[in-house]
Formats: sequence, C-alpha cells, structure tokens
Amino acid sequence: MRQVTARRDADVATMRRAGRVVAEMHQAIREAAEPGVTTARLDQVARDVLARREATSNFLGYHGFPAVICASVNDELIHGIPGPRELADGDLLSIDCGAIVDGWHADAAFTMHVGTVDGDDHRLVHVAEQALMAGMAAMHPGGHVGDIGAAIHTVVAGAGFGSPHDYCGHGIGRAMHEEPDVPNRGRRGKGPKLLVGSVLALEPMLIAGGHDDVLELDDGWTVVSADGSRTAHVEHTVVVTSRGPEILTKL
Ligand code: MG
Ligand code: MG
Repeated sequence: MRQVTARRDADVATMRRAGRVVAEMHQAIREAAEPGVTTARLDQVARDVLARREATSNFLGYHGFPAVICASVNDELIHGIPGPRELADGDLLSIDCGAIVDGWHADAAFTMHVGTVDGDDHRLVHVAEQALMAGMAAMHPGGHVGDIGAAIHTVVAGAGFGSPHDYCGHGIGRAMHEEPDVPNRGRRGKGPKLLVGSVLALEPMLIAGGHDDVLELDDGWTVVSADGSRTAHVEHTVVVTSRGPEILTKL
C-alpha cells in the first residue's frame, strides 16, 4: 500500500457517527467503573449504549470474541475478556470497544484509574495520552505512517516505558482492521502516505516496567506484560483533514 485510502466526506461523516457511539460507550463505562463492579457489568453498560443508538458491535464475535468490550486490568494490556472479576480500589482499567453504524466502523480505547489513584499509574496514563496526541499531530496530508510511529515511540521510550512489537494500530473503514498497520514505532518519511480523508486507528500500548515483552494467557485472548508491570492502552479513530487531524471517536 503506497498511500492510505482517502474516504469520501459522506463516509467520514458516517464514521463520525459511529465514533460518537464509541465515545458514549466510553463515557458510560467511566461512570460505571468503581470498586466492586464486575467487568461483565461494564460490558452490559456498553451493550445498552449500542442498543440505544441502534449500532452494532465490531468486537462481538470477532474471531469468536464473546463481548462488546475488551476490559484489561493492571498487567493486562489488551484483549481482556469481561467476566465475574470485580474491580478493586487502585486498579488500572483499560477499555477498548468499537461500533458499526451503516456499515462503517469506529474503534477507541482508554485507560482509567479505579478509585484511589497511584502516582506511578497517573504518570503511565498521562504519557500514554501524550503519545496518542503526538501520533495524531503527525497526521497531516503528505506525511507518512512512519511519522506516526516515530512520534509515538519518542514519547513512550523517552518516558522509559516499554511497548510490544507485535500489536499496533490500523486502517479502519468498512472493516475494523484494514490496511495499513500503524506500528507504535517507525521511521519518519517511511510507510504509506497520508491523504486528506485517510482514516487510521492509533493505539499506543505502554508497559510500565520498560520491557517490550508480552504474553498471551491460556484464554487465547488476554495479552499481559511479561514482567508483570502495569500497562496502559489508549486509542482513537482519526481522520486526516486539510486543517489537521480530527478525532472521530469523541462526543
Ligand atoms: Mg484498534
Ligand atoms: Mg480498539
């Protein structure tokens, strides 16, 4: 792929509607997540938003995934399966979810503190959000996908955090995962070219311990830091415009 597909304005508008549903799911989960609440309950909260907005899930049934959100706690980085686990005070919770509206997809993730906020966790989440903003800031017409990864990696590595090599962001449109891959490291000026209308999901993944290694649990889904340290995962679906990047997964 030499350049990232440019979407028609009407299709970006539909993705913006899907993105708003995802943002509403995030907001509802942020309000519901507190000590004692199960991750299965958070999945139900997200399902209720999808139903209310007459949107469908791009997570449910994806390679057999059984829920509409991924809920990953503490050392769990991505792909945690919602279930009977009760959140505890001081947990670090990463939620990833998406929505489909009229055939167009949006996908976004955030990491939040449950109850008491630990200083080290606060810094980890702050750096993750800064990395996402830095990646977005590299999204201008004529730029390259490698610019995004380079910008993200500069922030993450500069803060001393690790990041897995085998998981990354992606193109998004009629399917949740489209070309190209959007790695969380890269070389400026390399990779497919960005056009006005290119839509990408950027998703920095941080490992507090500073190592890059991750493991997949026996459930076949949950990816955890190999060093057992805490993790953060943030994501937005973003379109390149002539005025700069625009987040589609927002209210
Ligand atoms: Mg994604
Ligand atoms: Mg996602």
